[in-house]
Amino acid sequence: MQIFKVGGAVRDRLLGLPVTDIDWVVVGATAEEMLAKGYRPVGADFPVFLHPQTGEEYALARTERKSGRGYGGFTFHASPEVTLEEDLIRRDLTINAMAEDDQQNLTDPYHGQRDLEARILRHVSPAFAEDPLRVLRVARFAARYAGLGFTVASETLELMRQLSESGELEALTAERSWKEISRALMEDQPQVFIQVLRDCGALKVLMPEVDALFGVPQPEAHHPEIDTGLHTLSVLEQSALHKQPLTVRWACLLHDLGKGLTPEEAWPRHIAHEHTGLKLIKAVNERIKAPKDCQELALLVGQYHTHGHRALELKASTLLELLQSFDVYRRPQRFEEFIVACEMDARGRKGLEQRSYPQADYLRGAASAARGVAVQPLLEKGFKGPELGEALKRERLKALKAYKENA
Ligand code: ATP
Ligand code: MG
Repeated sequence: MQIFKVGGAVRDRLLGLPVTDIDWVVVGATAEEMLAKGYRPVGADFPVFLHPQTGEEYALARTERKSGRGYGGFTFHASPEVTLEEDLIRRDLTINAMAEDDQQNLTDPYHGQRDLEARILRHVSPAFAEDPLRVLRVARFAARYAGLGFTVASETLELMRQLSESGELEALTAERSWKEISRALMEDQPQVFIQVLRDCGALKVLMPEVDALFGVPQPEAHHPEIDTGLHTLSVLEQSALHKQPLTVRWACLLHDLGKGLTPEEAWPRHIAHEHTGLKLIKAVNERIKAPKDCQELALLVGQYHTHGHRALELKASTLLELLQSFDVYRRPQRFEEFIVACEMDARGRKGLEQRSYPQADYLRGAASAARGVAVQPLLEKGFKGPELGEALKRERLKALKAYKENA
C-alpha cells in the first residue's frame, strides 16, 4: 500500500501556512489490511480509518457515484484498484486535489498548484455539482483566503449557481450547513462568505431573510453606505477585524433583518425594525439550528441594538429594564457580547469605522453599577420573596440614577 498526504495539508504547506490537521489517502489497500494494522474504522459506510496512535484520518482511495438527493445519495467504491488520480478527481477544488508522498513529491493531475499561484478557487470536475455542500465549502475557502487574493473561478461560480437553482441545497441537513456556516463566520473575512453565497444565488435559498437586505436603503445621514445588505457585510467584517466570538458574529449577521420587511413607501426609514425583525431572526435561528447561545444573542441584539446606540440618552428605568432583559446579574458575559455587537454595528458604516463608541463603556459602567447593589443588607432588613425582588429593583434604579448623574 502507498500512503499520501492530501487536501488541506498539502494546500496550506504550499501556501506557506501552518498545517494543523492532516488528511491521508491510502492507495492499494483493503479495509481488512487496515484493520489488521490496528487502524480504527470511522463509520459503517465510509472507507475511512483513524491511525491507532496519531488519530489522523486515513481514507482508502475511492470513487463515488451520485445515486440520490443530498449527502446520503452517494455510493462509494473503495478497492485496491482505485488509483490516486481517480480519488483526487472526486474532490471539490483543484487546490484541494493534490497529494504528496513522504518525499514531498507532488501528484497534481488537476493543476492545483497552477491555481494556487493564480489565486483561483476552481472546481476539479463536473462531478462538483453532485454535493451541494461544496457551494458552502467554496464560499468558506473564499472567506479564508480572500486576504491572499483568492477569488472563485467564473465557471465554478456558474456551477454553484446551477446547484443553488436546482433545489439541491435544500437537501442539506442543518447540521452539515451549520458546520460550514459557523466555520466560515470564524474566518478572517466572513463577509466574503456571505457575498459569494449571494453571488451564486445560494444566500436566497439558505438565508432569504439576509438576502432580502440587499437593495434596501437606509438614511444616508446615519448610514453613508445606504444599502442595508452592504451594511450587514461591513458589520460582519468589523466583527472579524475585532476578533469577536461566533455568538457576536452570528448576531451581527442577523441584527437588521427587520429592515427587509419595511414597506417601500416607508424607505429609507425603518421604524420598529428591532421588533419586526424578531420573527425573522427566530426563523433563521431555527432553520439553521444554530446553537442556543448564538440564537439567544442574535435575538437580544436584534431587539435591543438601537437601545445600545442610544445608551447615553436612556432613562435610568429603561437602562434597568435593558439590564434585566439580559439577566446581567447572572449572565454578565452575554451583556458584554451585546455591547460589542452594538459597537460592531456602529463601526460597520462607511467612513465611520474608526469613530469612537462611548456607549460601550457607558453600558459597562451601568451594568457594574446595577450589579454593585448588594443583596445582603436587604435580607438583613427582612425582605424576602417577591418583596426582595422589588427592593432590589428599587436599589438598582437608585444606583443607575446616581450613575447617570455622575457619568
Ligand atoms: P481545512 O483546512 O478546513 O481542514 P481541508 O481542505 O483539509 O481544509 P477537509 O474538510 O479536512 O478540508 O477535507 C479534506 C479534503 O477532502 C479536502 O481538501 C477535499 O479534497 C476533500 N473534501 C472534503 N469534503 C469534501 C466535499 N464535500 N466534496 C469534495 N471533496 C471534499
Ligand atoms: Mg483538513
